[in-house]
Amino acid sequence: MVDSVGGTDRSNETSSLSESLAREQTSAASVREQELRAELAANPQAVAALDQLSANLNCYNLSDQQRVEALDAFAAAPNAATAAYVEGTVAQTLGVNPAATQSLLSPDAGTLTIAGQTYTIDHGTLIGADGRPAGTINNNGEVQLSTEQQPRNVYSDLSARVRMQEQVNSELQTMLDLHPADRRGRLDDANVNQDFADRVRQTLERARREGMDMQTDLAYRTFAQQDALYAQGRTAPGNRVTNARGGQSWHNYGLAVDLVFSTPTGQPSWPENGNWTRYGQIADGYGLTWGGNWRNPDRPHVEYHPGFGAGDAGQFAGNMRQGGLEAVWDRMGIGQQP
Ligand SMILES: [Zn+2]
Repeated sequence: MVDSVGGTDRSNETSSLSESLAREQTSAASVREQELRAELAANPQAVAALDQLSANLNCYNLSDQQRVEALDAFAAAPNAATAAYVEGTVAQTLGVNPAATQSLLSPDAGTLTIAGQTYTIDHGTLIGADGRPAGTINNNGEVQLSTEQQPRNVYSDLSARVRMQEQVNSELQTMLDLHPADRRGRLDDANVNQDFADRVRQTLERARREGMDMQTDLAYRTFAQQDALYAQGRTAPGNRVTNARGGQSWHNYGLAVDLVFSTPTGQPSWPENGNWTRYGQIADGYGLTWGGNWRNPDRPHVEYHPGFGAGDAGQFAGNMRQGGLEAVWDRMGIGQQP
């Protein structure tokens, strides 16, 4: 159950509500919560998970420090599954209703595909195709396979497919639903700069932690492919999709990628109501330039060119023709060797 396990029989304790509200406004936990709300404002699902968590934490008699610790734990992966997990750890610390606590710590149902195997989730236990227990999964995203020493993690393993569900009033509610983030291996392409690719991987991992199901679309394009794309809507049929000719786009130098959202079946999509702004903020935090702020916004697009402007791509066409991608990256000081 996602619902609070400590939230009963508190009705006689509301007399000091105004006092406690006044106290909360200056508490460290309240400051931390406001900070988190500001950070996550562009991700409504994460804010909803925070609402749920803070409402549940209010059912417990916690110290200010304990609340701060709970909020910090939630901040690492602000989504509904983590909210349940954090509430479970708090309930565990306080020794509240052990059965309900256990249910909060792990998903009741769902599926997981990791390391090439698919499992069904049954109250935190992973059931293999042969019907036997094969490991465990927690609502903090940690997976322990029986055959392995080290735990895996559904956020940092970009190839993991996971759906975590909780039983709420006899209905299954999905808390987390993530698909492989780079199923075509765009980021592993030798034509993609690996300093850049690592920043994109970090962006994808953080998006996953916030419950945003994203995947790579297109990354590297040759000059010829870029010219063909430029022709589209001009001298060739279709809609105009770019203003850049061959050599004018950072895609041509392995320094741009388009990330999109995944549908429930894992297909790429460009939803109008996607958390594009939050994606842009996360990417910015890893040193990437997001296309969503441009005069002609390109919301899936991120690129990497420290020390150069978005419009400077064209000046590297000569380096590319003479020395290939390595020459471009060398001139920019972002060669493959760190
Ligand atoms: Zn792009």
